Amino acid sequence: MWLFGIIGLLIFILAKFIYSIKPEHIIFIQYLWLFYTIFLVVITTWWTWHIKRQIESLKTNKTISDFPISLEEFKHVDNSLRYISRKLEAQEMDWWQQKARQADENLGLIKENSTDPLTGVANRRQLEKYLSQVLGKTTPLSLVMLDIDHFKKVNDTYGHQVGDEVLQHFARTVQKAIRPGDFVARYGGEEFTIICRAALDNAVSVAERVRQAVESTPANTSAGEVRITSSQGVAEYKEGDTAKALKERADTALYEAKETGRNRVVVSEE
Ligand code: GH3
Ligand code: MG
Ligand code: MG
Repeated sequence: MWLFGIIGLLIFILAKFIYSIKPEHIIFIQYLWLFYTIFLVVITTWWTWHIKRQIESLKTNKTISDFPISLEEFKHVDNSLRYISRKLEAQEMDWWQQKARQADENLGLIKENSTDPLTGVANRRQLEKYLSQVLGKTTPLSLVMLDIDHFKKVNDTYGHQVGDEVLQHFARTVQKAIRPGDFVARYGGEEFTIICRAALDNAVSVAERVRQAVESTPANTSAGEVRITSSQGVAEYKEGDTAKALKERADTALYEAKETGRNRVVVSEE
């Protein structure tokens, strides 16, 4: 192998030399390269053929004495092949690892763009996306709007940091109380949304379960236990509804829950 490389190099130097003194001999240089390439192809084919024959001989337990390469040379070829194969494997591994890292990063980015950093539930952007996907395609469908009661007081009494802890606790409590398949998102501030792939009565049961769980599970914060309640408005999807219309009906019901004493679930009758 080294020999062919050195011959190639010598031809290259010779070609350069001839070209520098007699550029009109370019055709001769081209022929020189052509013959050398043909020579290499012939040698490689011959080499491959002999290696194949050697392998066949080994497989059929025939003698290998007529093989024109010594065992030492054969070992050398074998080692080179192993070396090349290891290199290729390493390169392939690198490639796959790079792909896996890229996929991880992309997944991280998607997650970052779709979840609320404080509570870990879906953010509003994700809610809108989810709504646009299910609206009109999945029926029955209901939407619950939730709002923590007198949350401002929590912030005023314990500080913003504790307020954040209460928000995290609230999101966890909601997530535990809903059913698998229900979708929860932070709508903004201390307002959350649940989308249930269910008719109104089922969605009301979910909302009521959430309300009770929030009321009965105090938040363990750095300032001690903080008790909260929540108000909720529930509306069911009607044919032809836009996301906006559905949210507005749930919002109106939520407003009524606030107006009529808080810590309540109100159903939109519209
Ligand atoms: P209501 O029962 O009528 O809902 O009263 P409320 O005090 O809960 O409602 P209001 O809209 O007056 O106050 C909501 C407060 O939520 C005000 C705002 O500072 C607080 N808030 C919104 N986002 C965050 C947040 O990310 N962290 C904290 N700690 N507070 C927040
Ligand atoms: Mg509130
Ligand atoms: Mg609010």
